[in-house]
Amino acid sequence: MTISAEELAARLDPLHAIGYDEARGTNRLAWTAEDAAAGAWFEEQAAGAGLRAWRDAAGNRWATPPGDGPWWAVGSHTDSVRDGGAFDGALGVAAAFAIAAASPAPLAVISFADEEGARFNTPTFGSRALTGVLDVEGVLARTDDDNISLADAMAAAGVDPAGLATAPEVLRHLRGFVELHIDQSTDLAAAGAPWGVVASLAARLRLRATTTGTADHAGTTPMDGRQDALLRAARLITAAHDLCTPDMRATVGRLLVEPNALTAIATATTLWIDARAPEATTLDPWLAALTTGAAAEGAAFAIESRSPAVTFDAGLRARLAAAAPAGAVTPELVCWAGHDAGLLAPRVPAAMVLVRNATGISHSPAEHVELDDAAAGATAILHALS
Ligand SMILES: [Zn+2]
Repeated sequence: MTISAEELAARLDPLHAIGYDEARGTNRLAWTAEDAAAGAWFEEQAAGAGLRAWRDAAGNRWATPPGDGPWWAVGSHTDSVRDGGAFDGALGVAAAFAIAAASPAPLAVISFADEEGARFNTPTFGSRALTGVLDVEGVLARTDDDNISLADAMAAAGVDPAGLATAPEVLRHLRGFVELHIDQSTDLAAAGAPWGVVASLAARLRLRATTTGTADHAGTTPMDGRQDALLRAARLITAAHDLCTPDMRATVGRLLVEPNALTAIATATTLWIDARAPEATTLDPWLAALTTGAAAEGAAFAIESRSPAVTFDAGLRARLAAAAPAGAVTPELVCWAGHDAGLLAPRVPAAMVLVRNATGISHSPAEHVELDDAAAGATAILHALS
């Protein structure tokens, strides 16, 4: 049993075309017309594999064999970030249909709703809802750039928001889950491996910091008398970076400044710090040093979320490694990004296979995998679940 690159291309091509624009790449955001078109593609793929397509209360798309399960499932997501690439998520769902179609054992396919969270800042929405860890009331009230609420967007997409809290009821159909995904680093390329097995997902901490200052004139206020909120933010950003140990990563990717005027000293800033490490305990001394050090002067901190590290199922990892051809290099990896499989791992046996990405670039039209590599990874999943 082997899955070919040609089969993956044939399944992927019609999905690639949805929301694709040469200048901007892929825009297939959740709860949009493009998302609905991806749903029609999903239904065609399901019918071709002899599976029944349906949506759960969170809008996750399932393609299931006859009966009630519980089934082993394979899948990923078909939504994208804004101006994203062709493979993040889509590759995993297309590969899942190839695996299910070839499998002698009954397998289900799942495409999780709104994995990227690009429109309402709700990443891993569908898998959180399915596993009962979604703040249902909080997310439904969120609005997009056009002031449309998530509840209204879901309803317009044919999913009743009033039923969202019941999504965990269908988790009983799931015996376990395996996700194939593009590597978003160069780890596999550096190892010379076409695919690898994810041992764990890094722990994550999201911190919001605010700094305050005193409004004054940019020209007439001497340098030594200033209370500059933006200067304090700059020191904090530098400290968050400099305090990182080699086994962690910290990023300030979002900063709001008031009044944000060229000629005024800033009175307030809000910045968001994302910190990750393979072990959650690595983040504690970093957090203590950041929030009590000199750079914390004039700043206040609030922890917005903490996610523990996720270790994937040892038995599944062993079966995936054993499914590699003799002599093949199949490294085990730490993955620094969040994924649906990571949400499922505490509830059902779960695993992830990453596919080599020569540049490591992802969430960009430039992201690329060779379908021969993806086919080799998909074939390993097929064997591991057969
Ligand atoms: Zn993804």
